Amino acid sequence: MKYVIVTGGVLSGLGKGITTSSLGMLLKARGLKTTAVKIDPYLNCDAGTMNPFQHGEVFVLDDGSEVDLDLGNYERFLDANLRSDHNITTGKAYREVIMKERRGDYLGQTVQIIPHITDEIKKEIVEVGEKDEADVVLVELGGTVGDIESMPFLEAVRQLSMDVGRENCVFLHTTLVPIMGVVGEQKTKPTQHSVKELRAVGIKPDAIIARGERPLLDSIKEKIALFCDVPVEGVISAPDAISIYQVPIILEEQGLTDLIVDHFNIGSKGEDLTRWKGFLDKMTNPIGEVNISIVGKYTHLMDSYISHLEAFHHCASETQNKVNIVWVEAEDLEKGDPKMVFKDVHGILVPGGFGERGIEGKIIAINHARETGIPYLGTCLGFQLLVVEFCRNALGLTDANSSEFNPDAGHPVVDLLPEQIGLEDKGATMRLGSHEVIVSEGSMAHEMYGSTKVLERHRHRFEVNPEYIDRIEAAGLKFTGRSKDGRRMEIAELEGHRYLTASQFHPEFKSRPLRPSILHLGLVKAAIDHRDGKDF
Ligand code: GLN
Repeated sequence: MKYVIVTGGVLSGLGKGITTSSLGMLLKARGLKTTAVKIDPYLNCDAGTMNPFQHGEVFVLDDGSEVDLDLGNYERFLDANLRSDHNITTGKAYREVIMKERRGDYLGQTVQIIPHITDEIKKEIVEVGEKDEADVVLVELGGTVGDIESMPFLEAVRQLSMDVGRENCVFLHTTLVPIMGVVGEQKTKPTQHSVKELRAVGIKPDAIIARGERPLLDSIKEKIALFCDVPVEGVISAPDAISIYQVPIILEEQGLTDLIVDHFNIGSKGEDLTRWKGFLDKMTNPIGEVNISIVGKYTHLMDSYISHLEAFHHCASETQNKVNIVWVEAEDLEKGDPKMVFKDVHGILVPGGFGERGIEGKIIAINHARETGIPYLGTCLGFQLLVVEFCRNALGLTDANSSEFNPDAGHPVVDLLPEQIGLEDKGATMRLGSHEVIVSEGSMAHEMYGSTKVLERHRHRFEVNPEYIDRIEAAGLKFTGRSKDGRRMEIAELEGHRYLTASQFHPEFKSRPLRPSILHLGLVKAAIDHRDGKDF
């Protein structure tokens, strides 16, 4: 098994995740079985208890684990379904070691960061590769070299390269080459310092991925090569791209994949990027544009909704229409006029969320979509709020609410899942992961999915209160997707509306290039028709 280890320096947010994902896609295209592990040096056991403002969206895998959003990028680029063990955190590694200590596995020993924590980290990395029968394991180390909390991980990957042999490990270091304003000169000093820091912990990079606004000049590549002790072919320029999906092409063209397969001395079975390039071409050469509004409460950090944004990119390529996102902060809508806010908007999305802030604004947006005919998609909270809005304004249950926001609501039309009652722990306790949804024949959902059984990912504590289902359906909002036991409402669609559809699950998590989320695609197509004034 071979290992590609990606570290980062200078700043966070340089796109290490996209670099790692792109490499995964490129190595896979060379016929190599590739998997990826993300290391997050924080103390949380998983990302599930973090606010999206902290690290962006919490991504959910099939197995129900709540993980770092980079795993979403890995899944989209590698077209793979990952598991919880593909995300290692400090919390997880320490929890394992402490549990073993209590069990007496280390009886008689002093338990220490080196070797016990580092051994645990190495074991977890190797086990993922073995489980996936991988030729190549990509390991992305979150954070920046020099951070106190990444030290044990850097030491672990250094040891790993000794254990498996340096010829079986490639170290890539991502840095920033800033351009100084007045003179416009590309500056290499931050890269030099960052590589020095990496070498101080015993890791010598084989290649440097230099992010920057513009492509690196040849003279700058040579300078970095000389000062950082890498071959000049190992200095890869990663300028701002038109799309993240262009990054693999940029890396491939500069020979990074060749450098890696040569280092490993594994035969390259030729690359096939035709389909990927076709996908990118359709996305970047649109024949039209459509405006979709995302009404949320984390709109100041776009990473909070990254899987929705990517799903719209996938739809943009599929429909060859640029999807412009119009961000609307839900709370602002409580004071504003929806007619003005949605004046040039062709479709509205209300994504998932937690807590009371912005709820009434989201309900205003849904009411506007229902009454004016603008296509609407709600996911998770956006599904629950569609039910609340409908009960209030179409059924006349004016005090309808979710008991998440008002535990004493006169009509708790969205209520706690029965199995959630009395739960005390907050970590990993929601209804999570992939569950089967049974889609009714003859519905719009059935027409779109083309199947009566679909698997989608979930993350919620509340659900439609079964006591109100008959009344809601009688008024025209049909539940066309239900859980296998028929108890849980999963998809809703309104009769007589072009597209007013919502799902209790999160279709955005399974959207992939060339295989967009069915419900997002439904929204974008309906928005295009709405834009063009087509009948339905
Ligand atoms: N807060 C809601 C629930 O817990 C919705 C969750 C979500 O949107 N992911 O059910």
